[in-house]
Amino acid sequence: MNDLGRYSRQILFSKIGKEGQLKFLNSRVAIVGVGALGTVSANHLVRSGVGYIRLIDRDVVELSNLQRQTLFNEDDAELHFPKAVAAQKRLSKINSNVTVEAVIADINLDNAEELLTGFDVIVDGTDNFITRYLINDVAVKHGIPWVHGAAVSSRGMFSVIKPGISPCYRCLFPNVPSGRGETCDTIGVLSPLTDIIGSFQAIEAMKILVGAESNPNLEQIDIWDTSFFQMDISQGKNTDCPACAHHQFDFLDRSSSLQEAYTSLCGRDTVQISFRDKREPDLVKLAEKLKRTGKVLGNTFLVRFSPNEETSIVIFKDGRVLVHGTNDVVKAKSLYSQYIGN
Ligand SMILES: [Zn+2]
Repeated sequence: MNDLGRYSRQILFSKIGKEGQLKFLNSRVAIVGVGALGTVSANHLVRSGVGYIRLIDRDVVELSNLQRQTLFNEDDAELHFPKAVAAQKRLSKINSNVTVEAVIADINLDNAEELLTGFDVIVDGTDNFITRYLINDVAVKHGIPWVHGAAVSSRGMFSVIKPGISPCYRCLFPNVPSGRGETCDTIGVLSPLTDIIGSFQAIEAMKILVGAESNPNLEQIDIWDTSFFQMDISQGKNTDCPACAHHQFDFLDRSSSLQEAYTSLCGRDTVQISFRDKREPDLVKLAEKLKRTGKVLGNTFLVRFSPNEETSIVIFKDGRVLVHGTNDVVKAKSLYSQYIGN
């Protein structure tokens, strides 16, 4: 049984109250991406007593994350801990009365519906457009509200997307941006910004959970210039939107032409290789083998192999591979077959 006393300060807030608190305790939230935005929203939602939180992230903690990703520490970076697991460890010490589930996975069209359905709210902690379109497809298809957020440099934005009520992400951003946009890996990002955007996402998620009215705006903030721009999007539904008007879910459809070009990570000299067929490598054996040709670091979740200073290859338990040190897909694949084999 939960001790409601720990939530007394938010129960005293009349728009939440005891009734709202009980709703939190019985709610389920999925957070996609446990980086700068995801760590902030997860922290607030766990402290607020949201009963079940699923954290989904494919990456491991690195030293350059610590400037803004508030749940991690130097040990996590040193050990190359998966972000979802490091966050779960930290959060379960903050509130042991809620369930935090860590899922180490790259969310994609094969697993998105399985990973994101059965939740009351989805929170966007991703750093790329394509995953947001994917979240949007699942959310619209299954009628799940989600909170979009983005932050780069000193500029951030957020909005609430309620399928059937508000415009969807594809209504707002009909054209998929091509090529490598500005990302936090190319032009940086400020920690107070991600804290602010992640916090706004958390409060919008909390409002959805208690049934309060959501912010109807696409909010844009520049924390360096201290400027705010609100765009009322409540009338912004596109009556010809492929997703919410025609229920054509291109980002869940392997045959869609929109699928092709997005196999690599953007803007960070990293290529991800996923395999259609499921494979679960024997990480212990693999680490032993790789030790002969380079530096190897491993834990129960992954093996990180560096054949030289510039390159490293991370092999996850689910068979997924990240090649760091290049953004050339062909070169990444050849490095993989050179060192790991098929
Ligand atoms: Zn739409």
